[in-house]
Amino acid sequence: MQKEFFQAALLQWFDLHGRKNLPWQTNKSPYHVWVSEIMLQQTQVATVIPYYERFIVRFPHLAALADASVDEVTALWAGLGYYARARNLHRAAGLLMERHAGEFPGDLSALMSLPGVGRSTAGAILSLGLGIPATILDGNVKRVLCRVAGIEGWPGESGVLRELWDIAESLTPSARVADYNQAMMDLGATICLPRKPLCGLCPLHTVCKARALDATAIIPAAKPSKSLPVRECYMLLMASRSGSIFLERRPPAGIWGGLLSLPEFGSLDDLTRWCVLGGIDVEGLETWPRRRHTFSHYHLEFFPVLVTSARDLEGVSETFAGQWFDPLSAEGLPAPIRRLVDDFLLTGMS
Ligand code: SF4
Repeated sequence: MQKEFFQAALLQWFDLHGRKNLPWQTNKSPYHVWVSEIMLQQTQVATVIPYYERFIVRFPHLAALADASVDEVTALWAGLGYYARARNLHRAAGLLMERHAGEFPGDLSALMSLPGVGRSTAGAILSLGLGIPATILDGNVKRVLCRVAGIEGWPGESGVLRELWDIAESLTPSARVADYNQAMMDLGATICLPRKPLCGLCPLHTVCKARALDATAIIPAAKPSKSLPVRECYMLLMASRSGSIFLERRPPAGIWGGLLSLPEFGSLDDLTRWCVLGGIDVEGLETWPRRRHTFSHYHLEFFPVLVTSARDLEGVSETFAGQWFDPLSAEGLPAPIRRLVDDFLLTGMS
């Protein structure tokens, strides 16, 4: 591939059409780039923007993030998914304060030693945040390179990935590296779309192999499908007479780590036993229809179970690890639990 043509065509396109006004591009700093890159993993730009803006208002710099509690950070992340990202950001902020006096090191391996920072994110912090030549290879860039170079196979497969890194590194310029990397990401996000790429508008169309072969529908290859296991559980919905709902904070590690959620049980028997042990005078247990939420490695199928009692339930907070919350203002609930609580409010609490 003609490296000079590739770089020049891409940069020329970027000057005219690249995105330059995203919130993390104004007042650019390695901190802003890092937060945005982590939020953008597996998540669309439009979804990220309001989260990013709230996050930066609350944690305007690294020291503010390092000083916060992890619960505060995960609460601001609630609804964005993949919560390990929030916990890793918080831990990494602490490490940057400790090891690097609150500065981002201009060194790939030092950045990659931080929790949650892979090779591409480290490359983005270096190039976009510090102007140091470094290569990125996020999902959008992988798609563009697979198509331009005509690489068949799934980009997540190790051999394909190695080849993509080699090509990406060979094409990365030393001058205008931030614009070049941003251009690659923008081209993937706005022109070289996963389905129906807009090849007629693409600055690389004369050198793109997938286009020449009319193979954009099959390059890059889709991830080989595997059926995900299903995990089933029961979630307890319990309201006090004053209209509060009972929530527990989940353990810091694992799914929805550190967020507030409903008490969860492996079986209806376990749920009933919990109520009995807590001295809850159960009048009725109403099991609602099954709901499903898909994580990257399994489907969670859960049955909400509404507990009613002749007595006010508020006293159970002394027995269990959870607390009563105003359901309208409770923050830091994962999106599927927020939806369930909202449905609960709509049906009217007994
Ligand atoms: Fe993507 Fe089409 Fe451009 Fe090739 S020509 S890089 S397939 S948009």
